[in-house]
Amino acid sequence: MKKKMKPESLMMSYGYKPELSEGSIKCPIFQTSTFVFKSAEEGKGFFEVAYGLREKNKGEETGLIYSRINNPDIEILEARLTLWEEAEDCAVFESGMAAISTVLLEFLKPGDLLLFSSPLYGGSDHFIKKILTKFNIHVLDFKVGQSKDEIIKLVNQSGLADNLAMIYIETPANPTNHLIDIEGSKEIAQHFSKPDKEIYLAVDNTYLGPIWQHPMKLGADLVLYSATKYIGGHSDVIAGACLGNKALIKRVKGLRTFLGNMASPNTGWLLLRSLETLKVRMDAIAFNADKVAAFLNKHQAVEKVYFLGNLTEKDGEQFHIRNRQCLTNGGMISFDVKGGEKEAFKVLNALKLIKLAVSLGSTESLAEHPATMTHSDVDLQLKQELSITEKMIRLSVGVENYEDIIHDISQALDILKTNKKRN
Ligand SMILES: *Cc1c(COP(=O)(O)O)cnc(C)c1O
Repeated sequence: MKKKMKPESLMMSYGYKPELSEGSIKCPIFQTSTFVFKSAEEGKGFFEVAYGLREKNKGEETGLIYSRINNPDIEILEARLTLWEEAEDCAVFESGMAAISTVLLEFLKPGDLLLFSSPLYGGSDHFIKKILTKFNIHVLDFKVGQSKDEIIKLVNQSGLADNLAMIYIETPANPTNHLIDIEGSKEIAQHFSKPDKEIYLAVDNTYLGPIWQHPMKLGADLVLYSATKYIGGHSDVIAGACLGNKALIKRVKGLRTFLGNMASPNTGWLLLRSLETLKVRMDAIAFNADKVAAFLNKHQAVEKVYFLGNLTEKDGEQFHIRNRQCLTNGGMISFDVKGGEKEAFKVLNALKLIKLAVSLGSTESLAEHPATMTHSDVDLQLKQELSITEKMIRLSVGVENYEDIIHDISQALDILKTNKKRN
């Protein structure tokens, strides 16, 4: 029997045929808007398949038509992205927000109810609360720590249980690393599903990426990524992806064709390059993050560290969810310095190796101040409830030598010490 290879072994070759590209070892950038048909009959056949007018004949491949519908860089990228989670199909987009908004628009219609976890990435939060509601879509959020029964009760009390159409979650939550139970969320979806109406569970898996958490294996119907983060991984491209079964991705790609928010050939090519090192980059990042968290945990100027690796038995359900669904502690660490915004800013301004920027999952380490940057739009009371306070710094650990990352944080935290002496 042929041994099944690991995804990281297939990232250099899967889905690409060099003989179709003059023997080029790498997939070239197919920078073209349209594709020449060999005959009118062939063009007719390609359209019949692409628009679902008939099923593919045995051995027939979907023909290339026009780069808003398909393009080799995009198709090969989609094929490779399915491997990490053993998904049937994938659709890539020009941004994470394009993937998220397209999925929500495809699976929701006026009158429907969307149940979602809070907090969410700011852009998703805005799209759900400010844009979906303009189309008379009802939205209802639940918080980290609420049990399955409490959430079911919440939906029933809304009076809109019959209208529930989708559950959308993001876990771990940004920037606190709080966890939402994926299997539990699927059970809620099943609880409200009816024979003629399945309620889908969509999971934004950006924070742990395709290596460290596999939501589809835990019951998710759709998995979403900002491919800008770990998948792209070099802070040089904006992109998104959605994974799911063939039937659901067919719907997602259908709307993508008409919104026109597919990824460009150049984006596809850049991400193909990034995928070749996804596993080694993420391994290095997870290794470094454990070391950096251990350093922060012991530091006198640090009040609290928010890191998956810090969860223990006494954290109860959070600890158990961590063990069930996360394969590593990830690469994101938030920590509170002793003090407030002034102290946090001093530390951020003193960093030398670590760059002061939002975004995450890149080769270089990044630091930012959630309360005034990524989460500045979040309601103040909710920010306090979620522990997103002025003393918090969020770190995205990179692939540098961990001793250099720690040295940089250490010298930046020293600023607080010298200031104290002078006061
Ligand atoms: C960045 C991010 C997004 C949005 O992705 P873009 O590529 O910036 O459009 C969505 N969800 C999460 C969790 C993110 O971190």
